[in-house]
Amino acid sequence: MSGDVKTYDARFKYLSLPNVRLERLCTGMLWTEGPVYFPLGDYVLWSDIPNNRMMQWIDGVGSRVFRAPSNNANGNTRDRQGRLVTCEHLTRRVTRTEHDGSITVIADSYAGKRLNSPNDVIVKRDGTIWFSDPSYGIMNDYEGAPADQEQENCNVFRFDPSDGALSVVADDLVKPNGLAFSPDETVLYVSDSGVSHQDGGPHHIRKFGVTDANTLTDQGVFQEIEIGISDGFRLDVDGNIWTSTGGGVQCFAPDADLLGEILIDEVVSNLAFGGPKNNRLFITATTSLYAIFVGVRGAI
Ligand code: MG
Repeated sequence: MSGDVKTYDARFKYLSLPNVRLERLCTGMLWTEGPVYFPLGDYVLWSDIPNNRMMQWIDGVGSRVFRAPSNNANGNTRDRQGRLVTCEHLTRRVTRTEHDGSITVIADSYAGKRLNSPNDVIVKRDGTIWFSDPSYGIMNDYEGAPADQEQENCNVFRFDPSDGALSVVADDLVKPNGLAFSPDETVLYVSDSGVSHQDGGPHHIRKFGVTDANTLTDQGVFQEIEIGISDGFRLDVDGNIWTSTGGGVQCFAPDADLLGEILIDEVVSNLAFGGPKNNRLFITATTSLYAIFVGVRGAI
């Protein structure tokens, strides 16, 4: 049943809560993605990619269209100054929405060629912006517009706002997708959803060490995801990984043990911690935005 919490490891008893319900906060969308919480207004933004819009849910108020058209926006995050950072499929770029509402393009090309279709994005404490660039947004009209892939690979990029440099940090993933740092930012996790278009392709989360120079060292596959794929995911303050799957949300310990699971009747794309105490998971799943309180705070 939707909302059932399954415990596979005693550690999950401290990460989940008894007597909480999975709440469906908003529905009626086509494919939801990119949830991000803003403490200033106690609200969540997320993308409804095929409907070419972004939505907003305000606690105690309800939902509304936040931005339309959104250029088929996908992943979102907030930077260390509280500004919205967004991946756009149609325009094949990453943007920042300034406090005055104007939009700044952070990246739309690399080595003189257009990006594929930025998918998900995070911001490190030092202000660098890290994003994945698979080709989902240029494969058909549903989530963007068909176009030739100009980049040789589907890369993970790092943008450094101090000098404007855009660098490839990983180029060996089939379809890099969600990404998140460990709480101390010494580890970067990146999901690879390549099985979506490649028989036998990857459906796992990779693990990389992060050097002082902001480069990566490959630490292999962190965990295979057996129900669908990991699209997007987040970490809590204890370093546990809460990831989307085809059956809901799974929680893995830093040692990769499966601790527990929140079953949801819709395919989950992504999630974000939020709420005034940062202890509420906001979950985008196909047509809906869900929320559930948990026993731990999010890392960011
Ligand atoms: Mg994604």
